[in-house]
Formats: sequence, C-alpha cells, structure tokens
Amino acid sequence: MIDAADLTARLIRCPSVTPNEGGALVLLGDLLADAGFEVHRVDRNGTPNLFARWGRKGARALGFNGHTDVVPPGDPDSWTHPPFSGHVEDGVIWGRGATDMKSGVAAFVAAAIDFVRETPPDGTVILTITGDEEGPSRDGTIAILDWMEAHGERMDACIVGEPSNPEIMGEMMKIGRRGSATYTVTAKGVQGHAAYPHRARNPLHALTAYLNDLIAVPLDAGTDHFDPTGLQITSIDCGNPASNVIPETARAVVNIRFNDLHTGASLEAELKARAARVTQATGVALTIDSQISGEAFLTQPGPFVDLVRSVVTQETNRQPVLSTSGGTSDARFVKNHCPVVEFGLVGAYMHQVNERVPVAQVRQLKTIYQRILEKYFE
Ligand SMILES: [Zn+2]
Repeated sequence: MIDAADLTARLIRCPSVTPNEGGALVLLGDLLADAGFEVHRVDRNGTPNLFARWGRKGARALGFNGHTDVVPPGDPDSWTHPPFSGHVEDGVIWGRGATDMKSGVAAFVAAAIDFVRETPPDGTVILTITGDEEGPSRDGTIAILDWMEAHGERMDACIVGEPSNPEIMGEMMKIGRRGSATYTVTAKGVQGHAAYPHRARNPLHALTAYLNDLIAVPLDAGTDHFDPTGLQITSIDCGNPASNVIPETARAVVNIRFNDLHTGASLEAELKARAARVTQATGVALTIDSQISGEAFLTQPGPFVDLVRSVVTQETNRQPVLSTSGGTSDARFVKNHCPVVEFGLVGAYMHQVNERVPVAQVRQLKTIYQRILEKYFE
C-alpha cells in the first residue's frame, strides 16, 4: 500500500517552484513505472510534464490531472518549518505545496497504484501531471493534451485534484468555472484648456459615462449553475499632472468573470456596442482591447458527476455543492478533451506562508479517489 501522506512529504522535499521540476516528476515517474504504468515525460519548451497510463490504449479510461509545481515560498524565515522540509508533526504535513497541490497528486497517484494492484480493472487509468500550472500554463496540461491527441491517447472522464473545499472535506466539488477576461478601454478626445472646454473633447467625461453604464446595467442575472457575471473596474488612468488641462486620452481596465451565457468574444462585442453609443453621443473615440484568459465551461450534471458526488457523500457524510465558483484551473483545458470535475482537499492555506495539511485529510482524499476508481470500473 502506498501512503499518500508519506508521498506528499516526499514531494514537498522536491523544490519544484515553477518552472523547476525539482525531482518531483522523476519520483512519481519511477513509482508509477514500478507499478506497471507506461510512463512518458512530455516536456515542452523546458516545461516538465508527465503522462502515465495503466492498461490498454483505447480502452475506457478514467483520468486524473494535477500539478507538482508550486509558487515561491517567500521569505523562508517566515516559515515555522522550512518550506521544502516536508516536516510532519502532530498529524500535520508542512511545506509549500502541502495543499496546492502535491497532496492531491500524491492522493491520486497512491489511489491509482493501489487500485490497479488490488483490483486490476477491465479498463485504463491515465494520470496527467504538469509542472506548469502556477506559471504561464502554456506548456503544461495543454502540452500533455496535445501529445495525447497526437498519440491516440484518450480519457473518457477526468478528475482535477485541485483543492475544491473552502472549509470542510466534502462540502464542495466543482463542475465548471466562470470565464475570465480583461478589457482595456481607451478613450481618445481632444486636449485643451480646462477654461475653454468648447475647444476640447474630454475623454474622461466619455469614459466615466461609459463605465457608469457598465456598472449600472448588469450583463445577466445568473444561470442554473452560475452566479451572475461579475464586472470590476480595476484601473482608471490618464496620467495627467496638470489640473488646468483636459487630457487627450484616458484608459480604464475592466475585468469580467463571466458565466455560460457569454464568451470572451460575445462580451467584447457587447462592450464595443456600448462604446459605439458613447462615441456617437460624445465624439470621443472609445476602443477596446481584449485579453481572454479562459472561457466559461460546465460539465453537465449526469452519471459521472453523480458518481463522484455519491462517493464523496459516502466517505465524508456530506452532500457536496456543485459549484462553478473560484478562479481558473487546468480544468479549463481538460474540458476540451473530456468531461471534467474538480475535487480535492480544503484549500485554506493555498499560496500562504506555513502552508500545511492534516495527514488524515490526505489519506481520506486517497480513499475517495480509490472508491471513485472502483465505482467507475464496476
Ligand atoms: Zn493548484
């Protein structure tokens, strides 16, 4: 039997701050190869990634996805135990990655190995582990999925092991995520003297009218599984040091976390249409630059979501809420490949100094993953 808590501590001792591999994927690759998995390193542009499959290529496959890279620890002196010590004391494992997410990876690796050894399935188990989730995420999970596509590898469903519970094990699983996009609005008017505004065209007046309209008219009222789309103005600038000058240009940045009623492109169109109305009314040209970080997605509740949910309920005595809240994760890439849900630990200490996790929680997560595997191939 593989102890997921012990494996977590060993992974924490690999200093794998993005984009360094730190020995973490070598450790997992060796462990999985020993257990009969076919293991491939799928590195791209210096980013380390690992693909592992147990069973026949092309058979019905359940997959897991996670990352071994971690964010920097900050000042090591601020930590009670050194950030890469993997120190275990009073039933708690300390170190960077304890919750996000070496524990989640350790739990599904241990679950997968014990599962294929104890109850070899008529099917396939695939593990996709990246070293680039906390970084730009360009050559991580995307690279593994590209490689899988090129090599005829497929998952029929996938669990991302990111922390999904806000406070207590079993209270939440994620079946989708909001999209995220940032729009930079530039208003270009005509510069002039503040005392002679008829000879100028004030971009700030046009821009504030535009922004007020964005705040005042909600983009939607929410959907069955999503909150209403949220819009935040995160910056307004014109860089004007003189109080008696009407500036020529002004800029605002708007960040939108959107639900499944929108796409990054449909929001861009909406923002441009509203900008055109302001331009028509004021004569100030408003242009919009878009940066779309991720589209909204939803895994429709159905047999796979039900299976995960029933195992979580059985093991934690809680009925997890099916949520789409929070920031983005690599599930946004996996959803292009197969249905994906996220279930993992309690995310309380993610990215913090003194990140730590209870041993019992990691072992419980391993049990949950192993039960999911058993049920999936039943
Ligand atoms: Zn993470």
